[in-house]
Amino acid sequence: MEQKPVLIVGGGLAGLCCARELSRQQVPVVVIESEAEIGGRVRTDLVDGFRLDHGFQVLQTAYPEATAQLNYPALQLRPFAPGALIRTQGRFVEMSDPWRRPDKLLSTLFNGVGTFADRLRLAKLRWNVCRKTDAEIRKTPDLSTRRFLLETCGFSPDLVERFFRPWFSGVFLEKELATSSHYFQFLFRIFATGNASLPAEGMAAIPQQLAAALPAGSIRTGTKVTSVSPHAIQLEGGESLEARAVVLAVAGPEAARLSQGSITSPAACSTTCFYFAAAKAPMSQPLLVLNGDETGPINNLSVVSNVAPSYAPENMALISVSVTGEMTADLQQMESAVRQQLNSWFGSAVTTWKLLRTYRIPFALPAQPPGSLAAPEKSFRTANGLFHCGDFTASASIHGAMLSGRLAAQQVIASTR
Ligand SMILES: Cc1cc2nc3c(=O)[nH]c(=O)nc-3n(C[C@H](O)[C@H](O)[C@H](O)COP(=O)(O)OP(=O)(O)OC[C@H]3O[C@@H](n4cnc5c(N)ncnc54)[C@H](O)[C@@H]3O)c2cc1C
Repeated sequence: MEQKPVLIVGGGLAGLCCARELSRQQVPVVVIESEAEIGGRVRTDLVDGFRLDHGFQVLQTAYPEATAQLNYPALQLRPFAPGALIRTQGRFVEMSDPWRRPDKLLSTLFNGVGTFADRLRLAKLRWNVCRKTDAEIRKTPDLSTRRFLLETCGFSPDLVERFFRPWFSGVFLEKELATSSHYFQFLFRIFATGNASLPAEGMAAIPQQLAAALPAGSIRTGTKVTSVSPHAIQLEGGESLEARAVVLAVAGPEAARLSQGSITSPAACSTTCFYFAAAKAPMSQPLLVLNGDETGPINNLSVVSNVAPSYAPENMALISVSVTGEMTADLQQMESAVRQQLNSWFGSAVTTWKLLRTYRIPFALPAQPPGSLAAPEKSFRTANGLFHCGDFTASASIHGAMLSGRLAAQQVIASTR
């Protein structure tokens, strides 16, 4: 008799990794995705020959789950240089990782951001996070990242404000550094031991690679799920499908809606990303630029084509500019404030930059306050018998989404054997 498939609602990284693990164990699966394309928050548009990711984002090569599940050489990863360029008090200063860029040691030591003692504290933090396991980190108090940096590590407020705040508010997509210090320490280790990188064909190459490993016919796109129960789903248009088990692999708010409240949606962290085309790149380094001043809307900027030339047509530059939060601000006013700030950084050439597209993403990441990170042994089953996965069930990242998908699949197999 033909086995009913496991139905996975959502074709983002979590849903695809869940499907992959189930397929590996010979369990039939169908992924049902409401959009025309898979990938969820990791997608890329082709616009006038430019590759525009849906909001600036990068793959960290040290993510354990990505390392285990992805074929990195096939993604043709293009790395950012370790470190960042900080725009502060009218100039750009480089903050490099001296372990990986010893040639930048002197310029980093004397760049005027933070104190000399901060450099020693940075070395100590790096040593600590690289030495400790996640389980050891979890035994320490979970504070906000800001409190951890100021009180536990003893960094100067200057270093926190001009370096950690712009860097990590662009990662957490919240400006207060209110995110869990356990998660911060995990990420600091990931940043210290791998590269931030972009696949040559855009971030969408990641879900595409995962989907390519699934049996033909196991993904159904352009199909919205309207309601679910533990062994059936209802589609928009009235069709219903029976399942061996149902896995919700949608973002937090939709998971709360479809599970009728048995899953609680986390608060949202938001971002807006402006992509500009320029005839000439405003800088030559493949470095992330951080706004180290508290003025202006910009959080970070990247000349994406310096990192991955395939993101732009020949002799053109692609620049991404990200603004954290600010979902209620008028978009045109935001663009003009962004341009004004860019003008003060790079001069009047900015007036020739063409805005290609703006991505405004209200639910970019789930908030992760102290205490919110899931224990590794957590259950991916809700009280009413549904399974679920997604970044908000593990950690707000590519790593978390992929890991949650695989772990949820293992629990489905264990409970339906
Ligand atoms: C701008 C931005 C920058 C980021 N930067 C980074 C970064 O640099 N590094 C990093 O590690 N992470 C980053 N992230 C986070 C990372 O992209 C996400 O954590 C991850 O992609 C979440 O995957 P997911 O599968 O959990 O959810 P999603 O990708 O949200 O997938 C859910 C899927 O479910 C589908 N769906 C929803 N409702 C229904 C329905 N009713 N029926 C059928 N399908 C449905 C959706 O269309 C979607 O495809 C960033 C995210 C954003 C938005």
